Amino acid sequence: MTDSITTSQNAIALEEKYGAHNYHPLPVVLTKGEGVFLWDVEGKRYFDFLSAYSAVNQGHCHPRIVNALINQAKELTLTSRAFYNDKLGLAEKYVGETFGYDKALFMNSGAEANETAIKLARKWGYTKKGIEANKAVIVAAKQNFHGRTTTIISASTDPTATKGFGPFMPGFEIVEYDDVAALEKALANPHVCGLWIEPIQGEAGVYVPHDGYLKAAEKLCRQHHVLLMMDEIQTGIARTGKMLASDHEKVRPDLLILGKALSGGVLPISLVLANDDIMLVIKPGEHGSTFGGNPLAAAVVIEALQVVKDEHLMENAERLGKIFRERMNGLIRKTNMVKLVRGKGLLNAIVINDSPESETAWNLCLLFAENGLLAKPTHGNIIRLAPPLVITEEQVHECCDIIEKSVLAYSK
Ligand code: PLP
Repeated sequence: MTDSITTSQNAIALEEKYGAHNYHPLPVVLTKGEGVFLWDVEGKRYFDFLSAYSAVNQGHCHPRIVNALINQAKELTLTSRAFYNDKLGLAEKYVGETFGYDKALFMNSGAEANETAIKLARKWGYTKKGIEANKAVIVAAKQNFHGRTTTIISASTDPTATKGFGPFMPGFEIVEYDDVAALEKALANPHVCGLWIEPIQGEAGVYVPHDGYLKAAEKLCRQHHVLLMMDEIQTGIARTGKMLASDHEKVRPDLLILGKALSGGVLPISLVLANDDIMLVIKPGEHGSTFGGNPLAAAVVIEALQVVKDEHLMENAERLGKIFRERMNGLIRKTNMVKLVRGKGLLNAIVINDSPESETAWNLCLLFAENGLLAKPTHGNIIRLAPPLVITEEQVHECCDIIEKSVLAYSK
């Protein structure tokens, strides 16, 4: 007989004993999700204000997405790419038409999609731009977060990601984020094949660059014959009030990197989109993944994106994001405990008026949880607040009341 979990304490003890300690979760044990809500094993209900780092934009266990998963799972789940399957082409066409690209390359995790983009940019650099063998450079930004593989952390400036994990992969140059002059200088290097950025730095603490930064980056990429590699894994799929955060500045990346909400959170799906002149530099056998482009993912991605369109999640995120930030600015006027609120659409963060080393943000998140809302600090004193995009206006107000009540109680 297998063990069963009846209390939070029991579940936490099991994970602590048998699982690697590579995360530091809030002490909440969840067992059920529906829309904007999560329930713990004791039956307490919470508003989810993390959305699995923006993977469940469509809400937990969306019935249409779950049905697409179940129906496809009954027919065929995995063939590998050694053979064709009758779903992948449909999904490739659908995502290509949705985002306006010739071709898609499916992977699973966000990190794998970024790895794919790195390989595409390098191969393009050698075969199309004429960069000398093994000399290609990818320019990335300080405080980036693109995943956890050894190549990806080679471009990281976060000691938590890098310390103890060297040696690192060469071929990255790091510049200040949101600094056009730094880009002008870096992209002039003829060895540069790609500029790899997030349109808003989510993990870093929801840093929104100034209006015009992305457009300037696109222009400089064109000018220097450099591929614009946009990591929209956290910002994409309606999160910021447009299908892509790049859409706010009408920027069109050469390599569009997506993950997370592509599946609405029901299985790992990621991809890179590009036009033929870039995507076809990779030849058979040069890249792939056993699970990448499986029929289950293909069926799910179509339904998950169609839900975003049918339920007008972009419009909802745009409208409710403004209300949320207004309410947080109201809170800032009442207490000096919250320094500022920033974000776009429903990707927002509040910055707590304390040092990143302090426990304040963590303790506040514990209080939010006690009051029925789940969120987690990032980088010590920043709390990202990103609910599923199916949240209603009334619920946004209810959640702002919880946040306000908790902050005011804590600051007393
Ligand atoms: N890129 C960005 C911008 C992310 O926010 C994340 C995850 O938080 C990743 C990449 C990595 O995705 P995954 O955890 O699926 O590998």
